[in-house]
Amino acid sequence: LRKAIIAGNWKMNKTRPEAKELLEAIKPLVANAEGKIEVIACVPFTNLETAINTTAGSNVKVGAENVHFEKSGAFTGEISADMLTELGVEYVVIGHSERRQYFGETDETVNKRTLAALEAGLKPIVCVGELKWERQCNITEEVIARQIKLDLWDVTAEQVKNVVIAYEPVWAIGTGLTATPDQAQEVCAFIRAQLAKKYDQATADAVTIQYGGSMNAGNAAELLAQPDIDGGLIGGASLKAADFNTIVQAA
Ligand code: 13P
Repeated sequence: LRKAIIAGNWKMNKTRPEAKELLEAIKPLVANAEGKIEVIACVPFTNLETAINTTAGSNVKVGAENVHFEKSGAFTGEISADMLTELGVEYVVIGHSERRQYFGETDETVNKRTLAALEAGLKPIVCVGELKWERQCNITEEVIARQIKLDLWDVTAEQVKNVVIAYEPVWAIGTGLTATPDQAQEVCAFIRAQLAKKYDQATADAVTIQYGGSMNAGNAAELLAQPDIDGGLIGGASLKAADFNTIVQAA
């Protein structure tokens, strides 16, 4: 069926020596997950080459935290998909709520980045999730349906098999507030139903859907036990080798 994927999102953390140290610590711990669980470290651009070199020959894959949609040109400060694949990067986080909140990312740009990543052979981890206010107003499903529809616009059934969806309720990110397993399962099942409607059930069943938002060593097992939660996108807890490994072992 579908792959279980545990990915760390390091956000804006770690210099190169620190990145090397953390990955050296993670590698032996998660080696037993090989062939069962995909383990990914999504790291700042400046750490990508170090991460690729440090994880070579191990089962830890490397992802970037963003990618631009144009192939090249006058886009100061941006990084293209080809620049990432040339390094050996396999995954890329797209549309993280921090990008949407602080850097003007919209569903339209998330969609363009997703299409560009797929075209270049990168596997996008597309983030969706409702704000606290939206949940309070009972429009979580409307928000998620809209994001899935717009973010995956023009993504074909063949391509979506290489897409990972991360459900990250914005109110749970970096707050220590986790969605309950029931809340997270409900939305992840809803996401799969949207995929089934857009594509078909078999295609929807093949897509990995992660939960993210204060997932940690203590709560990972019950979240990952839910039928539609196929993995996690881990922020803070991915910066500690032992905690990250506990989550990998819980998957
Ligand atoms: P935290 O795990 O720190 O809440 O972050 C979640 C996240 O944003 C992962 O992308």
